Amino acid sequence: MEDMKAQIELKLIAAQLADWCRHREGIIFRSSLCTQERVLRFQTPLLLQIIPNAKGQTGAWKSGCFFMYEIYNGAAEFKITCSVSLMGLLKKQRKDCMKLIEKSGVSSEAAKGLYYLKEWTYPEAAGKLDKIMEAMQDFSEFEMPYFETELAKWKDNHDYRIKAFPDVSQVAILREDLPEQLLVEGGMKDILTNKYERNSTARKKCIAVYGTSCRICGFDFGAVYGPEFAGRIHVHHKVPLSKIKEDYVVDPVKDLIPVCPNCHMILHSRTGGYYTVEEVKKMIEKNVSN
Ligand SMILES: [Zn+2]
Ligand SMILES: [Zn+2]
Repeated sequence: MEDMKAQIELKLIAAQLADWCRHREGIIFRSSLCTQERVLRFQTPLLLQIIPNAKGQTGAWKSGCFFMYEIYNGAAEFKITCSVSLMGLLKKQRKDCMKLIEKSGVSSEAAKGLYYLKEWTYPEAAGKLDKIMEAMQDFSEFEMPYFETELAKWKDNHDYRIKAFPDVSQVAILREDLPEQLLVEGGMKDILTNKYERNSTARKKCIAVYGTSCRICGFDFGAVYGPEFAGRIHVHHKVPLSKIKEDYVVDPVKDLIPVCPNCHMILHSRTGGYYTVEEVKKMIEKNVSN
């Protein structure tokens, strides 16, 4: 009885997921690639550029789908992976794939000939439709664009190592960058924490779009101090506090920018205001030549 109920629920979730995939811009979805309610698959234009679907191949993927995102929808597990199947690939494609697998930091095969380049797990979401749709929203808005930016970098340079989406708790916003009214009302500490929380979505979006290298000088913590520091960065808020009205909503792409602590310090060094990003870039150009 219980099994039956769980089965029906999974079917309902799968139908919603399929519907979500069909309507999401930038996603290529074919229901023929899904195995009923357990695994739903989709691709994106970038995946198809890197490893095109094979035509008329037989074997594991009759549809000739080798590079894809897979949504595993189980009663006890919900996860999304970016998977690559080596079965039936041409020799050159196989060689490229092995390189891609190596640079994405995958340590083992998920199944024979199938590798997960990345795995995103949502342990709280299994079997719960509302949590699953929240996970899909988060995935498509932050994780996937960031991962695809990394994949595109690998496409240009096969030695590039693909990085995971940074932990937003390591992305710092200076107190000077927070709207004043939020700092003075009530208890300072609570409000700061609260503001950090409320800004985490904005920070995620900013990083998904711009990455975690300094947008002024290019500094990358992971490249200089080692992989355990990858993803650390400051986020500068470009809108002067005096321009912020009560109903202001931060625009993560227009208003925020990732910068290293050095450039951030310089941005804030103008008496009575900020230097602009362009002004700091010009300072570097003027002083650091060759
Ligand atoms: Zn910098
Ligand atoms: Zn700042």
